[in-house]
Amino acid sequence: MKKIEHIGIAVSDLKKANDLYTKLFGEPPYKSESVASEGVTTSFFKSGPNKIELLEATNPESPIAKFIAKRGEGIHHIAFAVDDIYAEISRMKSEGFIVLNEIPKKGADNKWVAFLHPKTTQGVLIELCQDIE
Ligand code: ZN
Repeated sequence: MKKIEHIGIAVSDLKKANDLYTKLFGEPPYKSESVASEGVTTSFFKSGPNKIELLEATNPESPIAKFIAKRGEGIHHIAFAVDDIYAEISRMKSEGFIVLNEIPKKGADNKWVAFLHPKTTQGVLIELCQDIE
């Protein structure tokens, strides 16, 4: 894994969260995007070299809606950039991690993504992501 690519934060009201993070960073989000397959709308903010992804559920079945119902708003996942997501997925599996989707999915911000089950990562949802060339 190369570096932390972004930190994902679950919010219940994206508009309100956008206002708050715009105040925090002094700049509006550089990107907003819906990912229909995941049932989320996202906003991305830059803080120096780092990125924050805000995620709002678009329907009650969305993983974000379920997360908020169970744990409230807050940090949802940490994403790590990888060069070869298929190689990392098999490496993770051989190390005993449960990979939630062994076939990478198309995520927000032009990335292939795969998630590790939090029960195998001591409670932290980890996202692997690779730029789509
Ligand atoms: Zn993410």
